[in-house]
Amino acid sequence: MTRRMSASPPIAHVVAGNVSVAEDWKRVYHLGGDHWQSFDGGPARSKAVYEALVALGPTPHPNETAKVIGNRTWAHLACTHCHERVLQAYRAEPEGYDKEDAPLICAPCVLAFAVQLGVTS
Ligand SMILES: [Zn+2]
Repeated sequence: MTRRMSASPPIAHVVAGNVSVAEDWKRVYHLGGDHWQSFDGGPARSKAVYEALVALGPTPHPNETAKVIGNRTWAHLACTHCHERVLQAYRAEPEGYDKEDAPLICAPCVLAFAVQLGVTS
């Protein structure tokens, strides 16, 4: 989900989507049949996580997904600078730049850059 702000250069406000990661999880951890790759204590745990992800439905909030899995690496955005997993971030999208390659920067890092540059009041 992207909302373009009026600032120049173009800065996109990017929000982590309410998207199920159940099938991605299954692709990584399900080995076929009754066989699951071990996760956080064993194969039974990775299967239980998959079932809990399915139970969240097709549009879970990223925090619900993180609570089931036990970390934020699956449904949150990663800040390119500090590597924190966040719900929203900002991305500069200059003309002709492939936005998928553009760094995502979290609000605390944006603020830190602004302070460093002396552009805050
Ligand atoms: Zn950051």
